Formats: sequence, C-alpha cells, structure tokens
Amino acid sequence: MIGTDCVQGGYTPGNGEPRQIPIIQSTTFKYDTSEHMGQLFDLEASGYFYSRLQNPTCDFVAAKIAKLEGGSAAMLTSSGQAANFFAVFNIATAGDHVVSSSTIYGGTFNLFAVTMKKMGVEFTFVSPDCTEEELEAAFRPNTKAVFGETIANPALTVLDIEKFARAAHAHGVPLIVDNTFATPVNCRPIEWGADIVTHSTTKYMDGHGVAVGGCIVDSGKFDWLAHREKFPGLTTPDESYHGITYAEKFGLAGAFITKATAQLMRDFGSTPSPQSAFYLNLGLESLHVRMARHCENGQRVAEFLSKHPKVGWVSYCGLSGDRYHSLAEKYLPNGSCGVVSFGVKGGRKAAEAFMKNLRLAAIETHVADARTCCLHPASATHRQMNDEELIAAGVSPDLVRMSCGLEDAEDLIADIDQALAKI
Ligand SMILES: *Cc1c(COP(=O)(O)O)cnc(C)c1O
Repeated sequence: MIGTDCVQGGYTPGNGEPRQIPIIQSTTFKYDTSEHMGQLFDLEASGYFYSRLQNPTCDFVAAKIAKLEGGSAAMLTSSGQAANFFAVFNIATAGDHVVSSSTIYGGTFNLFAVTMKKMGVEFTFVSPDCTEEELEAAFRPNTKAVFGETIANPALTVLDIEKFARAAHAHGVPLIVDNTFATPVNCRPIEWGADIVTHSTTKYMDGHGVAVGGCIVDSGKFDWLAHREKFPGLTTPDESYHGITYAEKFGLAGAFITKATAQLMRDFGSTPSPQSAFYLNLGLESLHVRMARHCENGQRVAEFLSKHPKVGWVSYCGLSGDRYHSLAEKYLPNGSCGVVSFGVKGGRKAAEAFMKNLRLAAIETHVADARTCCLHPASATHRQMNDEELIAAGVSPDLVRMSCGLEDAEDLIADIDQALAKI
C-alpha cells in the first residue's frame, strides 16, 4: 500500500547493507575493461558510468516515486522545471504542437509560451473547464501531447483527467499530468488515464523546503509504435546511439525514460545531486503522514476564511460550495492539498497589508512546506503576465495563495484572524 511504499519502496538492502539509501557521492564509476565501458555507452549493458546520466542514489529514489505513481520507470531531474521541459521535449520538438491547460504554474507557462516557442514548439492553451468540443478544436495534425496539472498552482483548478486523457488518446498522443500538488498519496493520474506524470519534488515530496528537484514517471502504457509516424524520436533509429530504436529495444515500459536519460540528460545535464536525492527520500518517507495534516489544516483554514466578512472569496476544492468540489470528490477523495487561495476585500492593497501583518505565515515564493507560507502571485511568480493572461491562468490581482503547513490549525487561524483585524 501507498504508505508502506513511501517508507520502504525503491530500495531493498541485502544482508549487511545500509538500511538507509546510501549516498553514492561519486561522479564516475570504475570498470575493468574498455569493452565493458563501450557496452554501457551503447546501452547494450546496464550499469553506471557517469553521474550526469545516472547515479544509484537518484535511481533508488526514482524507483520509489515510480512505485508510488504506479508507473513503469522514472527519472529524477534537478528541478520541476527540468522535469516538465524534458517530459514535453522528449516527444515534441521544432514544428510540433502541444495542447495545454491554461491554468498551470507560472514557470511552466513561461517555459511553454516563451522559451519552447522559441525552440519551435507551439502551444494552444485551453481552459481546464472547456467542453469536449472546445478541447477537440485545440488539436492540430502536428499535436504531440496534452498537458495539465492535477491541482493547478496557484489557480487550484482540478483537472478532469479522464476528459483530457480521452481527447489525447482519440488523437493518438499521450496525456502528461503534473501531479505536484496532489502527490500520489491523494491522486494517481495514471489510474485515470494519464500516460506520463511529472513532479516538482521541491514541494510536498520534499516537504521541508530543503532541496529543489523534479521527477518524470512513465506509465509504460502509451503505445508509441501504434503511432509510429507521430513519434519518430522513439520509433526510428537514434543515430547518436548507434541506431537504437528506443520503443523497440526498451519496450513500452522503458522507452520514454531511457530516451529522456540518454538524450536529454546527456545533452542538457539537469542532473540532481545524490545528496539532494537523499533529502528527497527523507521527505518521501513521511509523505503519506504529512499530506493528511496539510489537508486537514487547509480545510480548517478554508472554512474559517469562507465565513470571514473581510474575505471576498475562497478557492479550495474541499469546500462543499467550491466550483471544483465534485471533481475533487472523484479524483481526490482523501483530500487535495494544503494550499488555499482567497481574495481579501479591498483588492491588491488590502492583500499586501494582510500579508504584512501575518506572524506565523511567512511571505515566500514557495508552497508545500512544513512551515505555513503565503504569496501574492500577481506581484511575484506571475508578474510576467498581463491582466488577460492572469485571468486565463486563474490568478486575479487580489489572489493570496496560502500554503498551510504542519502547525496546529488553531494557531494558523488565530494568526490569519489578527492579520485580517488590522486591515
Ligand atoms: C513549483 C512547480 C513547478 C516547478 O518546479 P521547480 O522545482 O520549482 O523547478 C512545476 N509545476 C508545479 C505545479 C509547481 O508547483
């Protein structure tokens, strides 16, 4: 079960071996013959040779996350940004097109709409609440993937994963879901039809604000060979690896992650450090215990805010009146996350005054930490966006994002109460 996998998944020590995942702090690995080394370079034999590509500590942790998500293979990256970039760029390159939910993390929006656009990949953004017809209309002959976030940061929209998976599969392309906020403890997108799952492990998985990191998990279910012409990178020989065809040599279970490692990690080098992977694993060991408390605190704070006369609106899918409550009941039956968005009456100025008065909740560009923190996205993470883009991303100028930590709910509520009283 998921709690046991959080604690023990991915690493099983043999007799007399370290109980905790060892930190293999080595850039390189030794071999007896050049022939053996050559086989590793040709991907003919498996083994470690250089930590830019793979490292045992990182692989133990990736294996744990693959297990938690119910995937066939996974890789760690140095950040969530690198994970989303690799997940998309592994199948969509210059001349290709991707359909994405519009309510995604600001950094991902920038990656897609600005940087990947410069690389020749076009994106069409659709509301996560779009009808099947609207979603259908976003596809083009060169569409290679569909992207969305289970619970969007910071808009807190809940993705109808089945609706997006159906549309993607009808067009012969995979659905990529960023599951950072829900974590596999609260939602496993692969069970609802997602093909590839990404994470900013910097958030709840780490959970203590210690190490930036990311992860890509492949379900192993998407049949690249059934759509050969769409995915030449997986279904035709890679001349930079002696003519290997990933989907044939590594099968559905291994092709996507092997290609991302062999090509993208080799060339871009967004490698996590073994030390960071070790910290991530410490977070994962208590993920199932912490998520329950984050959700409980989020729920209590959201309920308090929704009754407060100085608060204009609250967005939290655990509230029975929330727009996403029924989707949350389906996809997030055990709770969503600890992040609550709301608007303080009086707009931008009132939001800033409220935040200045908080004592326990710190102002940070972060979420999903053990310590409660809050942010005004319009003046921070989303400041590159114009007003129209802000609204499309579900971020109004008065929005305050509060990430409820693991403190006592009574203390958090008292802090919010006194800060509201001062405006
Ligand atoms: C933070 C975040 C990212 C980016 O991850 P980093 O680890 O900061 O690079 C991507 N997606 C979501 C949903 C996030 O919250």
